[in-house]
Amino acid sequence: MQDIKIFHKKIENYLLYLKEIGIDELPVQSRGLRAQSSEDIQKQSPTLSSPLSTLKSVREELGDCKRCKLHKQRTNIVFGVGSPNTSLVFVGEGPGEDEDLQGEPFVGRAGQLLTKIINAMGLERKDVYICNVVKCRPPGNRNPEADEIAACRPFLEKQLDVIQPKIIVALGTHAAQTLLNTSEKITALRGRFHWYRDGIQLMPTFHPSYLLRNESKKKEVWEDMKVVLKALGLEIPEGKK
Ligand code: SF4
Repeated sequence: MQDIKIFHKKIENYLLYLKEIGIDELPVQSRGLRAQSSEDIQKQSPTLSSPLSTLKSVREELGDCKRCKLHKQRTNIVFGVGSPNTSLVFVGEGPGEDEDLQGEPFVGRAGQLLTKIINAMGLERKDVYICNVVKCRPPGNRNPEADEIAACRPFLEKQLDVIQPKIIVALGTHAAQTLLNTSEKITALRGRFHWYRDGIQLMPTFHPSYLLRNESKKKEVWEDMKVVLKALGLEIPEGKK
């Protein structure tokens, strides 16, 4: 009986620690992914020496971060959410109001659109990892400034080093320019793969908040996501071709 109690306590602690690093669900395969005959984007189940525990170390290193001025008005640090064992990571520029309040990236209107895009790909949020270039909300949703990006960028790089995805989707100008070290505009970058640190394919595409203001650009984003699916070896869902 005592053994069962200890086991339950260990499970409870493990689930608490998953929640702390932004994982609300265990990273198991979704039905949609199992239905694919091609490569699964989930790599392997987490163990204590897996990317999951290493991501926790990155979050611990970030701590109650005050490395840039964005800390002054934040409610929560928005670290990241999803599967640490995934082949596909989405990177946005920074949290908005809803994200700041909830401590989770892409949960507002733009986030709901991103979730729809992920679902249209035949995936669920828990199948991928989602994070931002800066982890604290820029006041008034202004663009993150160069010094803020420089302060926060090492933690994004560490997250990507841990997860080692096959593909990164950079959402919007700031994510694409930061990850590619370029000043080229998103319109010139999107639609084709670039290399992130010579080892990971990176697809720049429009940010969902831009799509909310420019509906006609959704088609281009979907074209980009089809290229991503193909590179992952996944089928484009029926009716979405
Ligand atoms: S944006 Fe990044 S570097 Fe700046 S305070 Fe927040 S976590 Fe720290």
